[in-house]
Amino acid sequence: MNSIIPLWPLPAVPVAGSEAQFPVRRIFCVGRNYAEHAREMGGNPEREPPFFFMKPADAILTGGRMDYPSKTSDLQHEIELVVALARGGRDIPASAALDCVFGYAVGLDMTRRDLQGELKAKGRSWEMGKAFDQSAPISPIVPASSIGHPQRGAITLTVNSQSRQRGDLADMIWPVADIIANLSAYVTLQPGDLIYTGTPAGVGKVGRGDRLEGGVEGVGTLSVTIV
Ligand code: MN
Repeated sequence: MNSIIPLWPLPAVPVAGSEAQFPVRRIFCVGRNYAEHAREMGGNPEREPPFFFMKPADAILTGGRMDYPSKTSDLQHEIELVVALARGGRDIPASAALDCVFGYAVGLDMTRRDLQGELKAKGRSWEMGKAFDQSAPISPIVPASSIGHPQRGAITLTVNSQSRQRGDLADMIWPVADIIANLSAYVTLQPGDLIYTGTPAGVGKVGRGDRLEGGVEGVGTLSVTIV
């Protein structure tokens, strides 16, 4: 390409046990996918169709240090299972959805909760509460070819060694195959897309100096220090 500005490096996530990288195309996120978290957010825990929002691809953070963001005094953690797609498509049936998955990672959907709340109350888009620099920390991606497709197992987060979030993948309102099927009705999914699949209950505030340790059983761990 005869680019008029310097080309930037493609955002990419390391692949566990390999020198290879997974290039990131888009980041989709699922809202309220665990009933207990839906309740703590004051919402309806019933099985409504899943809803989605996005973060920019370069919101991923693969290092262990996250800069405390601007425009918030209530930065919150949401520990999530992340799905990495090797194949895409539109109107993918749930029965074929897992064939699109390259692998899985542990992620944090970091949220400016105060800003999100203010925007929501005004009926405005709460994008700036969610889609900001370094708002999507992620562990290396583990290929499904080595771990399969985790459907149950603990998903946990500690802050400074204190337990904050603990759930089980089996408690997702919409499991991974259904998420892919639903999302592919809105957009044509593509290789390189990541999907953050929602967080269990226990979201809360963090500040500078806090050390976050997340884990998904059978997938891996993620450590982030807020600086
Ligand atoms: Mn989330």
